[in-house]
Amino acid sequence: MRELLEDAATRAIRYLEDLPGRSVAPTPEAVARLGELDIPLPDNPTDAREVIRLLDEIGSPATLATAGPRFFGWVIGGSVPAAVASNWLATAWDQNTGLFAAAPTATVLEEIARKWLLELLGLPTGSGICFVTGATMANFTALASARDATLRKVGWDAAARGLFGAPEIQVVVSAEAHPSVTKALGMLGLGRERIVRVPTDDQGRMRSAEVPEICPPAIVCLQAGNLNTGAFDPAPEIVELAKAGGAWVHVDGAFGLWTAACPELAHLMEGFEQADSWATDAHKWLNVPCDSGLGFVRDPENLKAAMSVSAAYLPIGDHREPSMYVPELSRRARGVDIYAALRSLGRSGVAEIVRRDCVCGRRMADGLREAGYQVLNDVVLNQILVSFGSVEETRRVVEAVQREGTCWCGGTVWQGKTAMRISVCSWRTTEADAEASLQAILKVAHSASS
Ligand SMILES: *Cc1c(COP(=O)(O)O)cnc(C)c1O
Repeated sequence: MRELLEDAATRAIRYLEDLPGRSVAPTPEAVARLGELDIPLPDNPTDAREVIRLLDEIGSPATLATAGPRFFGWVIGGSVPAAVASNWLATAWDQNTGLFAAAPTATVLEEIARKWLLELLGLPTGSGICFVTGATMANFTALASARDATLRKVGWDAAARGLFGAPEIQVVVSAEAHPSVTKALGMLGLGRERIVRVPTDDQGRMRSAEVPEICPPAIVCLQAGNLNTGAFDPAPEIVELAKAGGAWVHVDGAFGLWTAACPELAHLMEGFEQADSWATDAHKWLNVPCDSGLGFVRDPENLKAAMSVSAAYLPIGDHREPSMYVPELSRRARGVDIYAALRSLGRSGVAEIVRRDCVCGRRMADGLREAGYQVLNDVVLNQILVSFGSVEETRRVVEAVQREGTCWCGGTVWQGKTAMRISVCSWRTTEADAEASLQAILKVAHSASS
């Protein structure tokens, strides 16, 4: 076993070291080679070292280099070294993090991470936390708490009776809410279509003047960090309207919530701390390995009421019982990576990642604007939307940039406009990476148009 694990570690380290020098997108040849892994199910064992060799030699080159310094697609962070290493260790522990009795270390680390995160993100001290796969499940878990709590207030026990015959909940979201919010609402029986969508302004922020009259039971969802523009909904005004109407306020802050950790940007979070629940991703700006999402609920009893599980064979002690706060019973020890990342970075380290990524994003936006291309959004954070002219031209540049390989940016259509979408979210991105990526994009854009 030692030889196998050392070999795997050596290969993983080499992979990470090679990332800055390789094309961010895999070559079509490397992706085509994945077919070589598709053999009939073997009848007999294969040496584990041979399996790892195949995975590395065929699998590694076909990866998209999202862990590297110049990946700007979607909003995907890399992994800080401490979290990669803690993830390896936690995999060796293989703790089933459902119960304190089954996973004492993981449970205690999650409780410490809860306290640290609430402090770092400026959220109420006593809030409950769930460690889930991503912001989609964090939205789901927090909104399940919201659904049950708002119905409980009007005398309906949704956990026991479901939604059949329940009072209707008024659900208000932004017209530009992330699709994971509408998906979560659909999974919760609240309907993807019957929700009220509030129109947005020219930066994708909810227009508070267009928020309908709120009457309980009601849930209002805000966005801290628009998925395209990075803009923040006007929380102070909307929270006031929502609270006056007796609504539960939920915040999707998958990446935006981390601005609370950066003194220069923390003002963007003003008013959001008044909400009842929040969702974010640790695999985005905290840069821990996928998958790692976090949900917070102001009153932990509401989270527990929606998620608790009991059976005679599950011992419940005086400690935090992880499975009382998440949809899963068995799961990996996600809090270990979060503890390791926070402990190794410290407050200043988290702030520095967020700050540097925003500086890099602004540098790229400025360079594109200076070259005559249209940046469609006010660059308030790490998100840049840029048009290279016509729809066809912009699409051609996006594809050519991906093929060229220095960096990787995706495409989007925002408020009817086709754009390249640049998201800077990695701990590894330096100003030199931003500059090299800008030059590569400009070169490609120039040659694509000529
Ligand atoms: C990424 C993102 C999500 C979804 O997160 P997953 O981790 O992919 O489930 C939700 N909302 C926003 C604003 C996001 O950026």
